[in-house]
Amino acid sequence: MPEHETDGREFSVDADWDALFIDGEWREVPDRDRMDVENPATRELFTQVPAGTAADVDDAYEAAVDAQEDWANTTPDERARVVRTAAQLLDDYEEEICELLAVESGGAPSRQAIEHGGAVTFVHDAASFAFRMSGRHNQSKIPGKENIVRREPKGVVGVISPWNVPLKLSIRAVAPAIATGNSVVLKPAGETPVTGGLVIAKLFEAAGLPDGVLNVVTGPGSTAGDRTAAHPDSDVIAFTGSTEVGRLVGQNAIDHFALPALELGGNNPHVVLEDADLDQAVDAGVFGSFWNQGQVCISINRHLVHESLYDEYAERLAERAAELPIGDPRDDDTVIGPIINESQRDEIIDYVERTVEEGATLETGGGHDGLFVEPTVLTGVTNDMAAACNEHFGPVAPIIPFSTDEEAVELANATEYGLAGSVHSADRGRARDVADQIEVGMMHVNDQTVNVEPHVPFGGKKDSGMGRYNGDWILQEFTEDSWTSIQREPRSYPF
Ligand code: NAD
Repeated sequence: MPEHETDGREFSVDADWDALFIDGEWREVPDRDRMDVENPATRELFTQVPAGTAADVDDAYEAAVDAQEDWANTTPDERARVVRTAAQLLDDYEEEICELLAVESGGAPSRQAIEHGGAVTFVHDAASFAFRMSGRHNQSKIPGKENIVRREPKGVVGVISPWNVPLKLSIRAVAPAIATGNSVVLKPAGETPVTGGLVIAKLFEAAGLPDGVLNVVTGPGSTAGDRTAAHPDSDVIAFTGSTEVGRLVGQNAIDHFALPALELGGNNPHVVLEDADLDQAVDAGVFGSFWNQGQVCISINRHLVHESLYDEYAERLAERAAELPIGDPRDDDTVIGPIINESQRDEIIDYVERTVEEGATLETGGGHDGLFVEPTVLTGVTNDMAAACNEHFGPVAPIIPFSTDEEAVELANATEYGLAGSVHSADRGRARDVADQIEVGMMHVNDQTVNVEPHVPFGGKKDSGMGRYNGDWILQEFTEDSWTSIQREPRSYPF
């Protein structure tokens, strides 16, 4: 049972979100600037949160350091209980939390369901980590000595998260960190301070987490984010966001020997070989390009299609894209919600316009109304055009032709990123041969690129990041081995 009774109102859109969560207290900071949080669909003010400062981050780290040892010394049973309770509350208040995802981040119903459901599963899975921190007993080359290797929490985990799938991408780091006996300082994205941060604080508070184990500081990346990454008391910096910011964050972490766990950008290819089942390849292409308006690190960014299927694939993809319902994410029928803000929208439109200027053909889309960008399909695209060589992070499907499997591999790999990919072929062996040559951390045969499961490794190669999330992989990153030897008999030394 949760320690604090809740009827769910505290998770609602109308709740008060104007406070930081430090050392178990909701700290109102009237002297601080506020950050407006806008509903991207209506452009109305949803709420305001404190613009946390470097000093607030310092307070959060102080609380996290003070709380960590006692938390690490609780039984695995107790840590698992708290994390399981948080998962149960997340499940219980699905309706409230999904509405928040719609209002704060423009998540359409399919994203709300996948994000919320995925988050519940991740937190449940993380609860098991408390019992999975196994050490080992090693023999020794010294007579009478015993070697014991213990698996311990790293200490304090700083988490910095993005706005695109905010609840899931924050909680996938927070829950495993807590379950393994670490304490946490969480800095959510400025666009999504509630679903990426304050809601998570409320869930764990209601689940009975001791004061100081989780601290949430809302605020700008350049101040609160920078201090979170640079703070000397952090032992791991779990960052999800752009490669550009990730590079800075990683350097800051390394400066004080914190482990950087970096999940960064992508430019993910969807490869359709000449013997592919076209229906399946198009279905996968529609979902992989347009789910969450393409604002996903593992979205399909480029469709690489064999020249023999090219025209038909493009025609079908464009037809399907043009039919996708655009609207308020709170409407059940909506598939395409708004882009998060104007600068993201402008960048997407700019990529599309430049790609057309460079010689591509706009098959459908290209327009926008407020922050709603039409699903867009471009043909006659080459790998060096703007929408293909950049991570466009929008509902844009550039289609690039190829003539041999070797050329498909070459095109797929011609990017600095290496996050996710997919390959379609009726011959699974052939698809596997192509898939194995594409340099990505996550590859899917006869599917699309947007796949996440709690127990398999998530992460990228090349400039898409360092380390792996989920399951045993995040368990390793958030814990470390320490060696204790016990000399059971008097030892003879050479002098
Ligand atoms: P972003 O890099 O702009 O911001 C991410 C976070 O970093 C935010 O909380 C931001 O406030 C903070 N930040 C900004 N400047 C900072 C600084 N100087 N120091 C410390 N923190 C700072 O990314 P975004 O626009 O929020 O998200 C989109 C990007 O995230 C895309 O590139 C996308 O591919 C990537 N992403 C990657 C994954 C993954 O798992 N690989 C998942 C989702 C998103």
